[in-house]
Amino acid sequence: MVAEAWAEIQALGDGAHYCKVDLHVHTPASHDYADKRAAHGDLIKKARAVDLDMIAVTDHHTAQGVDPMRDAAKGTGVLVLPGVEVSASGIHILAIFAEDTPAAKIDDYLLPRLGVKPDERGRPETTASMELSVPKVLQEIMEAGGIAVAAHTDSDKGLTSTFRGQARIDLVRDLRLGVVEITKAETTKYLDGTDPNYKRELTCIQSSVRSGRASARPHPLPASAGCG
Ligand SMILES: [Zn+2]
Repeated sequence: MVAEAWAEIQALGDGAHYCKVDLHVHTPASHDYADKRAAHGDLIKKARAVDLDMIAVTDHHTAQGVDPMRDAAKGTGVLVLPGVEVSASGIHILAIFAEDTPAAKIDDYLLPRLGVKPDERGRPETTASMELSVPKVLQEIMEAGGIAVAAHTDSDKGLTSTFRGQARIDLVRDLRLGVVEITKAETTKYLDGTDPNYKRELTCIQSSVRSGRASARPHPLPASAGCG
């Protein structure tokens, strides 16, 4: 009996499996991407060079970079998740989808519902950006089947650095917000469930850009990234 149970346990492998990911990657589909001539294959090579297992393509208001990155990643072992970065009420929110989600789910479903016009695709801000409320974006992302991430939350155009008081508490406690991208390690202190206002433990991912530069400079691929 014990031997059988032990064999079963051993068959489970090493237990926890850690992978290295960057869930906020821009491509030349973002208008503010520095190197317009960058080839998607080179971006995947850079991801492999720093041992990334998975990336999410999150360009500004477009999923145009998703399929080229998927094609470039074929056979490389890098998993590409489709996504997008949306601006609302002065902050940036990522929507990240399951691996097999068509890019059209973002381009033809989510973005029109958020009032993004076809000629605004790829732009960091849109005409709808300032009027769009964060709860509306969280709701639309959820209904589209995505996970909402507060992008560079503690930096420029981040959720917790932009909102104050009860508005910030309400947003951090909004269960439609699944993950927070942080640029400073100390931010985890008030998002670990012990803060008397937030009373919520949120999954934090480390941004691949240096502190304070998340919005000033798009993330070409990746200074460093990691998660458990
Ligand atoms: Zn951003």
